[in-house]
Amino acid sequence: LTANPIRTTTQGPYPYGVLVMVEDVTQIRKLENIRRDFVSNVTHELRTPLTSIQGFVEALREGAMEDPATARRFLEIIEIEAERLNTLIADILSLGEIETMGREKVLRIIPVEEVAREVMDLLEQKAEDKGIELVLEVQEGVRPYPCNPDRIKQLLINLVDNGIKYTEQGRVTLRLKEGFKALRIEVEDTGIGIGEEHLPRLFERFYRVDRGRSRNMGGTGLGLSIVKHIAELYKGSVRVESTPGKGTTFKVKLPRS
Ligand code: ADP
Repeated sequence: LTANPIRTTTQGPYPYGVLVMVEDVTQIRKLENIRRDFVSNVTHELRTPLTSIQGFVEALREGAMEDPATARRFLEIIEIEAERLNTLIADILSLGEIETMGREKVLRIIPVEEVAREVMDLLEQKAEDKGIELVLEVQEGVRPYPCNPDRIKQLLINLVDNGIKYTEQGRVTLRLKEGFKALRIEVEDTGIGIGEEHLPRLFERFYRVDRGRSRNMGGTGLGLSIVKHIAELYKGSVRVESTPGKGTTFKVKLPRS
């Protein structure tokens, strides 16, 4: 709490007045801490691939170039790390944009089913490469939804892509349902699942259950926090149910206003 005595120019019997301003700074401090953590996380996340790129360039310069097979391998790593930087920057920008928007402005009434099909087509190859089946289930009676199609597409991509990334075998199902005054989206997988102790922090920026695994999968740790922010942009919510070793289901509710 802060108290600021301020000198005033009242005409009353007393030449001075004391104005006490009481302000709750705990919330401000909390936001400051979140911002500071975010900046330090971003710096760390950007530095990791950069350091790796610098290391491999140096190794090439110091002789690795002489052996064509080694040179090819190192160049491939440099390419992967550069791609990681690219994805990370795209996710950071996207999160920043969504976070600073009060409300979604560009609204079109779209058949979500079409966007869902596009997402399935986009990720079909990735799933096929891992031998995972991709299924789209659209319940009868699902009505078009007023939204920015790019935003909903990003939400669906992040969830289905995660389903594929964290599933070794089986199926990833994207389900569209018409709920009570809300569109409901479910993404269910038969993957590795998530331990209960991780669930409360799952939607935090840069939170990962297994950092190494996420990195190998090309993850940035921002996907779910982007999903949460998009849902909230539409006054909606997202929750998760998971059983380790069995699979995970993300449930998004987007109200119809
Ligand atoms: P990442 O880029 O690491 O995938 P996300 O924000 O999308 O970041 O997800 C955060 C973490 O949540 C992941 O690192 C992973 O540990 C876990 N996770 C997300 N989706 C799933 C899923 N479908 N199955 C198992 N774990 C998941």
